[in-house]
Amino acid sequence: MMKKDYYEVLGVSRNASSEEIKRAYRKLAIKYHPDKNLDNKKEAEEKFKEAAEAYEILSDSEKRQRYDKFGHSGVRGSSSPGGASGMNMEDIFTNFGDIFSDAFGEGFSSFGFGRTTRSRTIKGSDLRIRVKLSLEEIANGTEKKVKVKRLKVAKGIKFKDCSSCNGSGQITHITNTILGRMQTTSQCDVCYGTGKNVENIPYGANKDGLIKEEELVQVKIPSGITKGMQLKISGKGNEAPFGGIPGDLIIITEEIPHEKLKREGNNLHYDLYISFPDAILGAVKEVPTINGKARIKIDPGTQSGKTLRLKNKGLPNVNGYGNGSLLIHVNVWTPKKINEEQRKFFEKMRKDENFFPHPGNFEKSFFDRVREMFS
Ligand SMILES: [Zn+2]
Repeated sequence: MMKKDYYEVLGVSRNASSEEIKRAYRKLAIKYHPDKNLDNKKEAEEKFKEAAEAYEILSDSEKRQRYDKFGHSGVRGSSSPGGASGMNMEDIFTNFGDIFSDAFGEGFSSFGFGRTTRSRTIKGSDLRIRVKLSLEEIANGTEKKVKVKRLKVAKGIKFKDCSSCNGSGQITHITNTILGRMQTTSQCDVCYGTGKNVENIPYGANKDGLIKEEELVQVKIPSGITKGMQLKISGKGNEAPFGGIPGDLIIITEEIPHEKLKREGNNLHYDLYISFPDAILGAVKEVPTINGKARIKIDPGTQSGKTLRLKNKGLPNVNGYGNGSLLIHVNVWTPKKINEEQRKFFEKMRKDENFFPHPGNFEKSFFDRVREMFS
């Protein structure tokens, strides 16, 4: 039987790139996949094998060169025994498994053919822990020791090859179909695909040889961290059985409210109360800051509600771009209880509007003047 030209089979030009060849093959493989051609399986299988053979030669630069020079006779015998067309379906899937996993994704084996997977490494699960931080700790950054209950690989543990999968990590199922024997492979449930089992389960350990232990983990908290921010500490989650890699420890930060300072982003707010005389005469006042105290000047005649800004006295930016401010909100305290002498003083003050003028007074006198004009 005259063999078809490999380039023709794949439908590519003679100078096609390896990527083009791969793409063309993948397309054909999907098109002629026996499971997709239930009506004419026999014909599809022929096409499928034809494409596989062409791909086997053209995807190999050395074989392709020989084929280009000498044609089919140049590659006779160099491919798998009898060439790809001599392979059975299992071989094709095994040899070009990567193509199919690309084409069909993880669900590929459900098409009814196996593909080769090496035994995998498993990762332990992540642990999450909440850490409460004071505003001072957030401002300065800190190191905390947190108690973590981790699953750890028990001491003195020994592993053996998994008896369910003979250490391969996979379970192979053989099914007889009209195409012949079909092979499907799935991950071994017993060893999670690692190919290993615990030989001796130490006291207190679970079936995977893991034991829960409390551990103090040192956690570095950067300064300026914001509420709910998560920090990942690699490898401090649960350990994985059978030589896998441990999961991560996720630190979720929580903020303990400060007694006096309120946080808003990187800025801090403080409510300062001053007396009536301080507001009139001016004063120097002490205010709390995140790391101590600061003195601020209250100008004579300061209005209640005025905001003073202390630059750089806020919290640092978590990414290191400068500091926020401390905003001081000035409130003039109105006394609720006064004595007789004070009452008389304020009565006198109220009677004499010129003694203590304020915007309300100005307004009143303006209206008075208007009224006078029209009277
Ligand atoms: Zn197994």
